[in-house]
Amino acid sequence: MKLNFCPYELEFKHPFGVSSNIRTHTPTVFVRIEHEEFFGYGEACLPKYLGETTADTIAFLMKAKKLIDSLASPFPGREILDRVDALSERNNAGKAAIDIALMDLIGKLSKQPYYGLMGFGKSKPTLTSSTIGLDDDEKIAQKIAEAADFKILKIKAGTADDKALVKRVREYTDKPLYVDANQGWTDKYFVTDMLFWLHQQNVLLAEQPMPVHMLDETADVTAISPIPVIADESVKRLGDIEKIKGAFSGINIKLMKSTGLSEAKAMIDSAKANNLKVMLGCMAESSCATSAMAQLMKFGDFIDLDAPNLIVNDPFTGVKFTNGKVELNDEYGIGVTRNRSLAFEG
Ligand code: MG
Repeated sequence: MKLNFCPYELEFKHPFGVSSNIRTHTPTVFVRIEHEEFFGYGEACLPKYLGETTADTIAFLMKAKKLIDSLASPFPGREILDRVDALSERNNAGKAAIDIALMDLIGKLSKQPYYGLMGFGKSKPTLTSSTIGLDDDEKIAQKIAEAADFKILKIKAGTADDKALVKRVREYTDKPLYVDANQGWTDKYFVTDMLFWLHQQNVLLAEQPMPVHMLDETADVTAISPIPVIADESVKRLGDIEKIKGAFSGINIKLMKSTGLSEAKAMIDSAKANNLKVMLGCMAESSCATSAMAQLMKFGDFIDLDAPNLIVNDPFTGVKFTNGKVELNDEYGIGVTRNRSLAFEG
């Protein structure tokens, strides 16, 4: 086999604001694993707050390349991924890129979509939320208008006055909302009041209301919250689920945190066994990683896989968005086609 990679800047349609920063691009690194005449594609999407840089990721991929290039075939996939995982304590996004590319390759070799390969069967088209980043009034109105197809909107809160933000959004739409505070709230009495108020505003869930270190306070809030409280920053990998038990109603699983599809599925199984709701989310990634995650869509209670809609220079096509639903295709592997040339190196 042969592993190559290509750093790339994904450009947002609109500068994207969350409580901690605002950005116009997201660095990503595409990975290609080649075997015989087949190519598997993967992606390591690297928003700054994740703490994984392009240089970091390339250094990790160079290490992984030595391993992958020394192997005669992508089988057994699980064993290869365990060896990739052991190469570094970190680099979750880099590991995800390899997992996705390997699963794509195995699907193509086996002439099966990933969902067929794993025996899940194909998920039906499923409603996804569409994210409205923080912005001024006029831009928020414009973004809500652009998201007309979507039946659920997700807003990035954690501002000085989030009630005012929700009231502004409510001037333009009465669609159900997900609210993501991105750890922005720190007083549990304030958070409790917010959650009851948000419930009255037809907000269906709150994501990561409080900082990761405020687990006990989050548990107190979750215990009485009228809406599900979903862990995002608090849960990256499978082993984190045990640590947050009782503090959240559910978890937001993302490939860039989980190290890829294989561990994401194990996290889904663990969440269900622990009576936790499952949200399937994404970073601001291309159709490559988003189409990979969509393979698991039938296991999600909440789907937040709108990223390809937020970017203008997606080098892949994959899942389609129709009437606010994510729709899988029947193509092999993760179901993506490259639509522009990428300068793979390594
Ligand atoms: Mg989040």
